[in-house]
Amino acid sequence: MAELAPVYLDNAATTPVDPQVAAAMGACLTLDGNFANPASHTHHWGLAAADTVEQARSEVSQLTGAAIEEIVFTSGATEANNLALLGVAQRYETGHMISVATEHKAVLDPLVALRKQGWRIDLLPVDADGRVNLQQLEDTICDDTKLISVMHVNNEIGVVQDVAAIGALARERGVLLHVDAAQSIGKLPLDMHAQQIDLLSVCAHKFHGPKGIGALCVRRRPPLRIGALMFGGGHERGLRSGTLPTHQLVGFGEACRLARATMATDMPRIAAMRDALWSELQQLSGVLLNGSLEHRVAGNLNICVDGVEGESLVTALRQIGVSSGSACTSASLEPSHVLRALGRSAEQSQASLRISFGRFNSESDVSVAAADISQAVRRLRAMAPA
Ligand SMILES: *Cc1c(COP(=O)(O)O)cnc(C)c1O
Repeated sequence: MAELAPVYLDNAATTPVDPQVAAAMGACLTLDGNFANPASHTHHWGLAAADTVEQARSEVSQLTGAAIEEIVFTSGATEANNLALLGVAQRYETGHMISVATEHKAVLDPLVALRKQGWRIDLLPVDADGRVNLQQLEDTICDDTKLISVMHVNNEIGVVQDVAAIGALARERGVLLHVDAAQSIGKLPLDMHAQQIDLLSVCAHKFHGPKGIGALCVRRRPPLRIGALMFGGGHERGLRSGTLPTHQLVGFGEACRLARATMATDMPRIAAMRDALWSELQQLSGVLLNGSLEHRVAGNLNICVDGVEGESLVTALRQIGVSSGSACTSASLEPSHVLRALGRSAEQSQASLRISFGRFNSESDVSVAAADISQAVRRLRAMAPA
């Protein structure tokens, strides 16, 4: 039998850059290209770079609903989350913030830092579907609550939170809302003003843009003042000093443009591949879906497999590249905090797989993945002590 080509199914960890994005980036590096410092206003090279940066900003604006002057470019969503949370905290002596147990570490860890500085932090639980209970959120708001931080789409289980409803509640109670949209940008419609989001974190590399670039969108109407973390040349209206990387911004902008053009056709196609794999895998006994199927981003499937040992599961796969739990925590043997928050046991959480489809997957990848996972599970179960 012919060797099958390996299939990349870890698009929630990062995506391959779209060739059109790579081409646009490549044109911004060398002497014959658009390489100059966009802050150099004394020559045409700099002016051309500045023009290109503003085009990229316009693309990000159109995909997020943020106005041009609300976009602060950062090195990614980790930095955007830190800037949002620590930047708001700088405005107050201390206070109360609310977030959720299933957030990314790039939200949870800055909150740990704030707790050490005297902030009171409440992490809401989620229901078995992975969703926040709005009544519980409302009950947790107090006079001292300054900020609510909720992710739009979860990076492990792909579950979508109702950020518009949370935005309406936060606005009504006079509390700021920060949303980490790293996993939803380019995949779900996003409009920070329609959804009443005050601070929005995004990055390029989860939707076929480059790693190392993102943005924090900071509401300006009425202006929301936050403190900076980086001091220097006063770029990005003083909120993020550092020379703007033209090639990265062009890549981000091009990824946004492509996502707007393809979202309506790509997402149903990607969801159909995910659904097809899920129906194949349900033919194995003892396979559970983690998180809501209904409120779920297109490409994500996350399953627990009974009767196998966690670490062996992902290493038993021969044809596909996937994650066990979250890539960010897979260096440690800690069971996923997200799966634990859904009520899964430590053993179940460890015996889990996150399979995530992207733009460059095709229908034939579904049968490769189904066969690979089924064979691995059967082999491991046959080996396991009864
Ligand atoms: C990937 C991711 C991040 C981190 O983004 P970087 O650009 O890699 O720093 C933050 N939050 C979520 C939900 C993510 O999926």
